This record gives sequence, C-alpha cells and structure tokens, in this order.
Amino acid sequence: MTKDIGYNINQVLQRIQSAAQSSGRNSSDVTLVGVTKMVDYDAARACYQAGIVDLGENRVQELNYKIPYIPQARWHLIGRLQTNKVKDIVGKVCLIHSVDSWHLAAEIDKRYSRAGLQAAVLIQVNISGEQQKAGINPAEVETFLDSIGQLSSIQVKGLMTIAPEVRNTEETRPIFRELYHFKTTIAKKTLKNVNMEFLSMGMSQDFDIAIEEGSNMVRIGSAIFSTGD
Ligand SMILES: *Cc1c(COP(=O)(O)O)cnc(C)c1O
Repeated sequence: MTKDIGYNINQVLQRIQSAAQSSGRNSSDVTLVGVTKMVDYDAARACYQAGIVDLGENRVQELNYKIPYIPQARWHLIGRLQTNKVKDIVGKVCLIHSVDSWHLAAEIDKRYSRAGLQAAVLIQVNISGEQQKAGINPAEVETFLDSIGQLSSIQVKGLMTIAPEVRNTEETRPIFRELYHFKTTIAKKTLKNVNMEFLSMGMSQDFDIAIEEGSNMVRIGSAIFSTGD
C-alpha cells in the first residue's frame, strides 16, 4: 500500500509537471492537496511522508479524527461545510475551500472572530450551473465578494469549483477555462478582504486539463490512494 502511494504520487507529480509546462508555468506554482477521505490515517501519513504536506478532507468529523495523527500537515476542508460544524474546525485548517453561502460565511466570521483568528477561504462557484451542485452562481459571485468585505475575520484567497462528472474529460475544459477568466476579472478589482491567489480546480479524473487551463491548486484522492486491485 505505502509503496503504491509513493509510486502513484510520482506519477501524479509528473503529470502536474507536464500540464504546468504546457501552460507555460512551473510545477512549483501548483499546490497538490492529497485528499485522504477514502483512506485511514496510516495511508494519509504515508502521503505526508512522501512529501505531500497539504492534505484535504471533505468531512469535519473525519478531519478531526485524522489531524491528531498528522498534526504537522497543512489541512484543508474541501467538502460542503454545515454551519453547525464551523465551530469544530476553527484554527485547525489552513484553507476552507467550500464557502457557498452568506449564512456560512457569517458563521465562519463569527467563530473565527471570537477565537481572535482569521479564516482563509475560497468561494465555491457552480460554474456548470448543475442544479444539484453546491456553489454560488457565477452571476452572484461579485456581489457576494463585495459583502464579504464586512466580515473582518474572513480572508478570501480565491475560487474553487468541482467539475461535473463526464465521460470525456475534455468536456470539462470550457468549465475550467471560464472559471480562470472569471478569477482574472475579479483579481483586477479592488475588493476588501479579497485576493485571487488560489484557483482550486482539478481532481483525479481531470487535473491535467484543470492545470492547463490555469488551476494552481488540485485536489487529488483516488489517483494517489487507489492500489489498482
Ligand atoms: C473527493 C474529493 C476530491 C478528490 O477526488 P478524486 O476523484 O478521488 O481525486 C476533490 N475534491 C472534493 C471536493 C472531493 O470531495
């Protein structure tokens, strides 16, 4: 298992490198978040020890279970965050990828403010417009970011999206391209507590394409942890 993880990580890193190169960038511009949701702490630790210091979980309970085993990692919350769980992650994660409502943003602000901390967050955008997908409608993002300025304990660090599952991964390319353009447009505006440092897009099935289209943060689980049996 551990041996597979090392091998898989090398494969992923090579693919990141060639995708970065083909978009004229350096692979060091791309942060690889190892998504450990489908494995236990020993595999997650093997991933960390193989050099992947950014680890991501999509559930608060699982995150809190694993953090004590690998406290040195930079933990990311990548999945949908329920308002009543915000209190359980305050100060524990380096980045919350999935802010998708004002209600959630206000709760994060309240809890972090009480703790005297700043929350680094990404805004999840539903670029494909799928009804069942989480994320803010692109048309509403700018107004949303404007209001975030009122929340002094939140720092927006960029945008995140989850592409729809498709047969042919090329179908995701226009979605990634659109979000990149969107990010570039927002980056030109001056919005309080907002910068566009990170564009979190790309998972195991589509990270090459996401990087080619401008992603600088990919969230990868199965390509690292599946053992091929
Ligand atoms: C599970 C998950 C990932 C990783 O998915 P893989 O296809 O296993 O790479 C990335 N982002 C989010 C939000 C996830 O829930």
